[in-house]
Amino acid sequence: MLDASHAVIGASLAKLVPNPVLGLPLALGLHFVGDLVPHWDLRTRHVKRSKLTTIALSLTDAGIGYALGWWLFNQTVPWPYLALMMFISQLPDWIEAPYHIFDWKFPPFSSIKHLQSRLHRKLDLPWGLIWQGLIVLLFIVISL
Ligand SMILES: [Zn+2]
Repeated sequence: MLDASHAVIGASLAKLVPNPVLGLPLALGLHFVGDLVPHWDLRTRHVKRSKLTTIALSLTDAGIGYALGWWLFNQTVPWPYLALMMFISQLPDWIEAPYHIFDWKFPPFSSIKHLQSRLHRKLDLPWGLIWQGLIVLLFIVISL
């Protein structure tokens, strides 16, 4: 999934599950579940781009998620928990990033990369974005 989607799902979870002991592992687990849903994303693993472009796109993607999550839930969730939940929701992708950016092809970067490559279900535009958007919207609606 886009990291924006992961972040908004994490922000919704922060509202739904105020207890961090439950919320944090759930946010991490839902990252992998989210990636199982056929989705479109920036295809960091497959498309040939310059590393700088990849970094810029990924940070924009993640940043949009943080902004949206903050905008939707900053009135109802304490901000440290909100920020942490959004970060944990994206964590596997952050751990994978050095594999692509610095060519750190050793654990844990390579392990998480291989795990995520196996879990991801891709779906092209437009449906890969429509389904993803609907799932994110469902989380928002349930948690608001
Ligand atoms: Zn992922």
